[in-house]
Amino acid sequence: MSAPLLELREVTRSFPGDPEVRALRGIDLTVVDGDYLAIVGPSGSGKSTMLNVLGLLDRPTSGEYLLEDTSTTALGDEARTALRARVLGFVFQSFHLLPRRTVLENVLLPLIYSGAPRAERETRAREALHRVGLDHRIDFRPDVLSGGERQRVAVARAIVTRPRVVLADEPTGNLDGERTEEIMTLFEELHRGGMTLVVITHDTAVADRADRVVRITDGRLSEVS
Ligand code: ADP
Ligand code: MG
Repeated sequence: MSAPLLELREVTRSFPGDPEVRALRGIDLTVVDGDYLAIVGPSGSGKSTMLNVLGLLDRPTSGEYLLEDTSTTALGDEARTALRARVLGFVFQSFHLLPRRTVLENVLLPLIYSGAPRAERETRAREALHRVGLDHRIDFRPDVLSGGERQRVAVARAIVTRPRVVLADEPTGNLDGERTEEIMTLFEELHRGGMTLVVITHDTAVADRADRVVRITDGRLSEVS
């Protein structure tokens, strides 16, 4: 078995208020290199909160999060940002593309911190767009693209840095059946190429495509398959 890549140990996340919201109530989860994991659960069950913790976008209230065997709990913001840029790629339900930038510019953005020269960054962005089948759209702005095309741009942006893990939060939530199929096929290609995937969904057809499924209910995890 491969070494753990992501590991949550008794992670909780509470949001202050009256009453306090206990969004994660003691999560243990191990994801190994090459895993394809789906996380399912009803609305409000803590899925996005968990993904934000895994993505170093948020910190647990208690418990530990290890990424590549390193505890992230004590890391400062700068170290977390660097780790996130190197290891993780993100895909969101609503794409999160910059509307006034071209497709190519959107995909170039995460490479700004790579230190690579512009020509090399551009080659890599074009390669990523080729991988998602959008060579013919590189000079377009996102607002003239279909939802399925926008999500493929977002996937290109997620993989252009060659991360070890792609984290996706309801990546097909705004797509019809055919577009969902395209994105799932793309994820399967990435997975076959060795990418570790963590996909949040409440679509059981999407979850069924993963190798492993865990369910989250009221901030607690249970293994489904
Ligand atoms: P899901 O993604 O499964 O729909 P979330 O992780 O977004 O669920 O939310 C889990 C619970 O935490 C919900 O009750 C939600 O209202 C609450 N929550 C999420 N983010 C915040 C926040 N920033 N402040 C207060 N409550 C929050
Ligand atoms: Mg959510």
